[in-house]
Amino acid sequence: MHKKLFIPGPVDVREDVLQRMATPQISHRSKDASALQRGISEKLQKLMYTENTIILSTSSGSGLMEGAIRSCTGKRAAVFSVGAFGDRWFKMAKANGVPADKISSVPGKPTTPEMVDEALATGKYDVITVTHNETSAGIMNPVEEIGALLKAKYPEVLFLVDTVSSLGGSKVEVDKCGIDVCITSTQKCLGLPAGMSICSVSTRSIEAARKVENRGLYFDFVELYDTIQKKDHQYPSTPSLAHMFALDYQLDRIMAEGLDNRFARHKEMAQYVRNWARKYFDLLVDEERYLSNTLTTIRNTREISVGDLNKKLGERGFMISNGYGDLKDVTFRISHMADYTLDEVKDLINNINDILGLK
Ligand SMILES: *Cc1c(COP(=O)(O)O)cnc(C)c1O
Repeated sequence: MHKKLFIPGPVDVREDVLQRMATPQISHRSKDASALQRGISEKLQKLMYTENTIILSTSSGSGLMEGAIRSCTGKRAAVFSVGAFGDRWFKMAKANGVPADKISSVPGKPTTPEMVDEALATGKYDVITVTHNETSAGIMNPVEEIGALLKAKYPEVLFLVDTVSSLGGSKVEVDKCGIDVCITSTQKCLGLPAGMSICSVSTRSIEAARKVENRGLYFDFVELYDTIQKKDHQYPSTPSLAHMFALDYQLDRIMAEGLDNRFARHKEMAQYVRNWARKYFDLLVDEERYLSNTLTTIRNTREISVGDLNKKLGERGFMISNGYGDLKDVTFRISHMADYTLDEVKDLINNINDILGLK
């Protein structure tokens, strides 16, 4: 039996979207490929509220995260971490020999503008990285406030943001926030299979990257950017055209739903799960304004066996997620992202209540 995936990626893909992956192949050097990729970029610019160039990468989001920090850091990166995925960005820096420092928050607490201000006041950094929506903790960082701080006090510092588990489900206004590189993956809020990732890049981040000597090759942002300009939205190597077809179609679906409607639907699903979690368990994040709208991380205050719960849910055609990283045993997670409806979320919760005997 297929299990509906209420895990924070991959999520279920609607049947008509999935079918687009089976579109007959075209040459990646054809005018049709350019038109397809140009169209996708234009739609993504709307979704991301940006005029920056869009890069599509045949890799999961981690590829672009690694490429971004390696390509753009000339001096030293300040990596702000609120959990496992922030930590990962720091590991990527280290593995590539990119000078970086990690500035962590305690679990459940955000990266604040004050923390960023304190780090940048040292003058050591030309790049910062922030996780918009930390998928381990279920926390959403105030990227708008951090962007405002950068504009006011540190306009020369590049702002790299991981929106892998939020973009497409929660409003991220790239240009308004002054985000230089904004990265996401297809298998989370966009509701597509894994295997492609997306980012927007500012021209100044590319100009900074030109001065960096060792940018690698496959994820070299300069090479990707220049090829897009020279070859009308084509790429240095062969992209997953199957993903392109499905992404193009899914972006039309997203626009047809309406961006504000889509974000409101995510919020509605989030509020339903939060209310349930507060009634029977507790939330890891205690400040309302930092709660994620795309997934909820729940403190396992009843010390239930999440493994047993998931086994029983599986028999009914559902799957949720245990905690991630350091939070593995003390939390569990329910995602409410991409194309799910409030009714589907209610159905999941009713089944959990039934299995756990909660009234
Ligand atoms: C899933 C996730 C990643 C990793 O993305 P992949 O597409 O699996 O490489 C990075 N950051 C966050 C916040 C995520 O949720």
